[in-house]
Amino acid sequence: MIHRLFSLCSILLLFTTASANPSTKLIVVIVVDQCRYEYIERFGSHLGKNGFNYLLKNGANFTNASFKHANTSTGPGHAVLLSGTYGNVNGIIANDWYDVSKRQWVYCVEDKTVHLVGSAGEGRSPRNFTGSMLGDELRLKTGFHAKVVSISNKDRAAVLMAGTMPSGVFWMKDSVFVSSTYYMNDLPEWVKKFNQSRYVDSFFGRVWDKVLPDSAYRHMDDDDVPYEGEYDGMGRTFPHRITGRDSTKITPSYYWSLARSPFGAEVLKEFAKQAVDAEQLGQRGVTDMLCVSFSPTDIIGHAYGPHSIETMDAVVRMDAILADFFAFLDKRVGLGNCVFVLSSDHGIAPIPEYMKRRYPSVDAGRIPVDSLKRYCSGVLTRRFGEPAGEDWIDAIGGNNIYFNRSTFKNMKVPTLEWAASELADSLSQFYPIAAAYSSSQIISMPATTPVEKKIKRSFYRGRSGDVVYALKPYWREGDKPQGAAHGEPYEYDAHVPLIIAGGGIRPGRYPNEASPVDIAPTLSALLGIEFPAGRDGRVLIEAFK
Ligand SMILES: [Zn+2]
Repeated sequence: MIHRLFSLCSILLLFTTASANPSTKLIVVIVVDQCRYEYIERFGSHLGKNGFNYLLKNGANFTNASFKHANTSTGPGHAVLLSGTYGNVNGIIANDWYDVSKRQWVYCVEDKTVHLVGSAGEGRSPRNFTGSMLGDELRLKTGFHAKVVSISNKDRAAVLMAGTMPSGVFWMKDSVFVSSTYYMNDLPEWVKKFNQSRYVDSFFGRVWDKVLPDSAYRHMDDDDVPYEGEYDGMGRTFPHRITGRDSTKITPSYYWSLARSPFGAEVLKEFAKQAVDAEQLGQRGVTDMLCVSFSPTDIIGHAYGPHSIETMDAVVRMDAILADFFAFLDKRVGLGNCVFVLSSDHGIAPIPEYMKRRYPSVDAGRIPVDSLKRYCSGVLTRRFGEPAGEDWIDAIGGNNIYFNRSTFKNMKVPTLEWAASELADSLSQFYPIAAAYSSSQIISMPATTPVEKKIKRSFYRGRSGDVVYALKPYWREGDKPQGAAHGEPYEYDAHVPLIIAGGGIRPGRYPNEASPVDIAPTLSALLGIEFPAGRDGRVLIEAFK
């Protein structure tokens, strides 16, 4: 009780001291998509003074910050950052989940009731997200005077940082930045102007070459290896030419090659500068918020893997992009007037073929989803008989297995739960599955292991599968021996940077147990803003002055 009273008092104290500090003009949230924490250490000697190192020198670096949910992918990761909640509360359990009654996949930010603004097509919104985010609480607190602007190369990243009541949300769609009618009916003039400038197209034909001397990359894998992905005319060795598959003219493939190069981050940085100037962010006598999520590191990492020369080069170039953006912010707002957060939405697993090439007996590899599906169907057929017509399994994705309702009805299986727990028990014995649980087991289990706890935090009734599984470490789904992936409940996918810098924060290295779920509550306490509705994370009070 005394302990509780004490915590209550310290929280109240935080709110009073923090709100007495009105000097924060701009909250800047920077997400480097698919950035392992260890990149900062591994590539550290090649980073400049004014990018990552500006934040490391002036901020609190939580060196042991990991996500604590199972499905470590882009949608769920971004949804954690500024809501302080996991998918079990906020509903964003995966990039895509399966609707068993409609028998179709649902994209985490899809919304059939809204349209794109600035281009044609179905819009995006946070309608599948439950709760509030830091930006919502900031706007409520300031009578909506505070502006909250969220931008990214990817729609789901921009939408899932912005909350439910932002002033502007923009993401890239081919040659332009777009929004949706959930947020606005027309693009602001400055976005129209940026689109009309055709800046996105100006990188056509550019060449991405190594920014450092060859010797700097000596701890990376070879440049030319067969397990790297070759997409959109980029090849798998340096120099990579950014044209798309057709080198004579701009096609949709060009936009993918741009996003798979550091130039995609360059474009977003320039758009972010325009946002600061046009919206006068941090220059209006109220605390504003800008969220920027750079996606190219993720798209590069998927193609070439975390031990590729490409990934190291992309991180070093990302560092220079951050340095340029910070110099700009210093002129416009003053770095001392900003509170910065830098984090990521997830990490990435090593490419299994890279590990096996260097050490053939290591336990790593890929399992095709088809063979997983065949195994599951076999178990159910042996138990309940051969189904006439459709298969037992309707869909597998995001470590969720969804049953075909009509097959179970036709075959008169008494309860789905019973079949699900039989399948989960059997699947747990199947290589390379580490653990499998039925939905009712997940709801009722006390969760004793780290993987069980993480699976519970990624479980949402009606969206998660009838059976949920995790693969063994260093295993992934897939049939092509190419590229890298993330999405499992292991540290290589979960351990990311968490750096907070600015007024009220004591700089230093903090080896404490921390998580990106703590970002929103910490900023709330630091700035005297109400916590997001479903808050799960803690206030990183050890870093407060
Ligand atoms: Zn990814």
